[in-house]
Amino acid sequence: MYLPIQDDSSLPRTAFTAGGGAELASSALKGSHTADVLVVGGGIGGCSAALHAAEGGARVVLLEANKIGWGASGRNGGHVAPATKHDPDEIIARYGAVAGQRLIDAAEEGPKVVADLVTRHAIECEFSVPGIISAAHTPTAMQAMAKRVDYWASRGRPVEMLDRRQAADMIGSDYYLGAWIDRRGAKINPLSFVRGLARAAVKAGASLYEGTRALKIEKQSGKWLVKTEHGEVQADMVFLCTNAYTDGLWPGLRQTIVSVRAFQFMTRPLRDNVRKTILPGGQPMTDSRRLLSGIRLHSDGRLQFGGQGPAFGAEGEPSWGATLGRLQKIFPQLGEIETDFWWTGFMAMNGDNSWHIHELAPGLLTMLGCNGRGVALATIYGRELARYARGTPAADFVLPPDAPRRIFAHGLVEPFVSGLIRYYALRDAAEIRRLERDNPAST
Ligand SMILES: Cc1cc2nc3c(=O)[nH]c(=O)nc-3n(C[C@H](O)[C@H](O)[C@H](O)COP(=O)(O)OP(=O)(O)OC[C@H]3O[C@@H](n4cnc5c(N)ncnc54)[C@H](O)[C@@H]3O)c2cc1C
Repeated sequence: MYLPIQDDSSLPRTAFTAGGGAELASSALKGSHTADVLVVGGGIGGCSAALHAAEGGARVVLLEANKIGWGASGRNGGHVAPATKHDPDEIIARYGAVAGQRLIDAAEEGPKVVADLVTRHAIECEFSVPGIISAAHTPTAMQAMAKRVDYWASRGRPVEMLDRRQAADMIGSDYYLGAWIDRRGAKINPLSFVRGLARAAVKAGASLYEGTRALKIEKQSGKWLVKTEHGEVQADMVFLCTNAYTDGLWPGLRQTIVSVRAFQFMTRPLRDNVRKTILPGGQPMTDSRRLLSGIRLHSDGRLQFGGQGPAFGAEGEPSWGATLGRLQKIFPQLGEIETDFWWTGFMAMNGDNSWHIHELAPGLLTMLGCNGRGVALATIYGRELARYARGTPAADFVLPPDAPRRIFAHGLVEPFVSGLIRYYALRDAAEIRRLERDNPAST
């Protein structure tokens, strides 16, 4: 089921999102409240933090400026990957053997953690574990994929390298040089998932308020006091789970990320004979281009895919030519592509393409960062914040907190990132031309 997300805030308009499950019927916060834990932001991260903290016995209040799942959590592609974006050796080099391995292990557990929550709380969100396919458009990408496959296969994990023929069979296109499949990967209806987490949090005793923006945060008599338009909450701890939608609530936090708009599209249900040929095993897929985007087929025959458009400013028209042209090249059997609807959402990008947890002040924590892997990782990091509420020192988190780092010349960064995106698009295009020249099947 595809439901519109009501967008009644000043953020750019978003047309539709893939999702299901009924909306929560929660109201705005009024009057004075107290809590052990106050969560700001009702995405997967915030709802996971609220649920786990409430299950741990804390009195939890969650404030969401719009609707539960209104941010990236209700707008994403629904790929649930068992890894961060980085190769395991990069992670070990960055965090050291102990913390690095902890992060690799936790990320690997991501789909299982999601599966466990889905089962435990009977969340109806079309969750399944068909694996995820990543396809290569250059020989270098094939080599990088082979390295990842070696790493996991040598540890007995269900991963396989797919040669050109095998990839063509599994994708339904002989466009790529090859691919790999990670059978631990899952897919989900993310809006239903986040709404399910929120309902479970309420059942566990948390109080959720929608349409309630946290406007001001200050320390008063040893407690945190968060003010909203019609009320306030006094709490021992505050978790800011606002990610790419981070506003000026905590000075300087917004300047540690760049919020980049990403586009998603949904076709009309495909004809039966075409539908059968595309991703017949039900796996979602991505490819190795720099401007990567996911593709997945839904059970009603609609194809969901990422594409291009203006990364900043008010929501603008997508780049239809580039977006549809690419899909047509991959799946020529689609013929004329009819998109039923499209929407956008913001990803929080940062210098190292990673998630971070920051302890901004004693009792005030935030989790934010690279968004492309948020379904599983935001679930896990939300759980980590809840462990803090139960007394686990932040240093014992899966990912030890670090100091927030402002992006240099943040005010000027949008033109720079726009230029970078154009550069990536050009490099992708050059590589695709080479692929098409050297491998005529790709034209
Ligand atoms: C188009 C797109 C496709 C994606 N595809 C995938 C994918 O396939 N797989 C994957 O793993 N990840 C994907 N991601 C990333 C993933 O969606 C995110 O990493 C994840 O949802 C982040 O969750 P979150 O809870 O941290 O933030 P969000 O879901 O963005 O939630 C933040 C919330 O904070 C609220 N808020 C902000 N300020 C305030 C305030 N002052 N007071 C109260 N509330 C406030 C906002 O309204 C928002 O609802 C995608 C992202 C996008 C945009």
